[in-house]
Amino acid sequence: MFASAMVETGKKRSTIREIFEFGRARAKIVGRENIFDFSLGNPNVPAPLLVTETIKKLVEETPAELLHGYTSAPGGEDVRTSIANNLNERFGTDFRYGNLYMTVGAAASLSITLRALSEPEDEFMVFAPFFPEYRCWIENTAKAKCVVVPPRIEDFQINFKAMEESLTPHTKAVIINSPNNPGGTVYTEETIKKLAEILEAYSVKYGHPIFLISDEPYREIVYDGFITPFVTKYYKNTIVCYSYSKSLSMPGERIGYVLVPSEVTCFEDAYAAICGAGRVLGYVNAPALFQRVVAECTSLTSDISIYERNRDLLYNGLTSMGFKCVKPMGAFYLFPQSPEADEVAFCERAQKHDLLLVPGRDFGCPGHVRIAYCVKTEMIERALPVFEKLAAEYKWAKDKGKYNKIILRVRK
Ligand code: PLP
Repeated sequence: MFASAMVETGKKRSTIREIFEFGRARAKIVGRENIFDFSLGNPNVPAPLLVTETIKKLVEETPAELLHGYTSAPGGEDVRTSIANNLNERFGTDFRYGNLYMTVGAAASLSITLRALSEPEDEFMVFAPFFPEYRCWIENTAKAKCVVVPPRIEDFQINFKAMEESLTPHTKAVIINSPNNPGGTVYTEETIKKLAEILEAYSVKYGHPIFLISDEPYREIVYDGFITPFVTKYYKNTIVCYSYSKSLSMPGERIGYVLVPSEVTCFEDAYAAICGAGRVLGYVNAPALFQRVVAECTSLTSDISIYERNRDLLYNGLTSMGFKCVKPMGAFYLFPQSPEADEVAFCERAQKHDLLLVPGRDFGCPGHVRIAYCVKTEMIERALPVFEKLAAEYKWAKDKGKYNKIILRVRK
């Protein structure tokens, strides 16, 4: 009677949500302050003050029919011009409003882009570790095949050998996400150049463009002065999916965009397909008020230094306890190796201490766990001794001066 795939998707809550709900229920028993919930990527750093002031100003000053009225489907022309100008200033690009399509956050940007590109038998490639919703959108929205490239564990840059082995004449696009959820990795310029080279070569080999979908909700959240290469400058068939959920700390307001550069093959059709997919998926237009808010706040971000402090505290704390972890250069996630091969068992053990972590297999990378540190610094300070207790349940084996394996000391 109902679409079985939708029933199945609707009944299956994501592991992250399950853990989050467990934390809420548990907080009622032991008190919120005794739960160390690192499960959700919900920014705790407030939106910049100017965002709040702009909302107030717009609500008070915009004529009623404009304030809450429909906008044009791709978004207000002035809004898109403002975003294009900001990108051009920052990245030396040459975008105009006609390159942008406003969306209901990155989730919509991605599902629209996937729907716009997808034809029968198409494959979309993702690199582990990857955001789990990609599979949902590729399989359900685009009705295509999701091809997973295994991770390069040592630094979470791209595993190019495995990528080349996974490319086929059906590959329509590859999705990258840098800064990365859950790895915290930022792709280096070298990685982006190599990726572009391979995509160029295989586009020629297969006689059709292979698109690069760059999912960038964490673009501005980078540390130690690292600069995220702006991907459209390296590969012409790039489509950018952006959102203000993380950079301006407003995931609940649902605002972002798709950027289609004019250099993209058959640009007019590409942009029309984005508009068509937005229409077919029933988006109508992105929230009118928040289109105007972001247009006035293009050069702002939330206070990234708070995330950087959290990263340092957690990374230094955990590695000094013996956890092995690639140092994250961006986003707000730490993705350490689990001390036992079965990271679900490790997460369950952590849960007994009311430490809520997410198993890596959900991100296509078993043996690791995700720790979202977009939380209060004070909670991390209180959680470190708890991590210490958890670590003490394992005996760390040393090999050539480096730990390599951790053996369970107690199991009761
Ligand atoms: N892509 C990645 C990598 C994410 O981490 C998220 C949200 O956490 C999204 C997309 C969806 O973002 P939005 O809330 O803007 O839809």
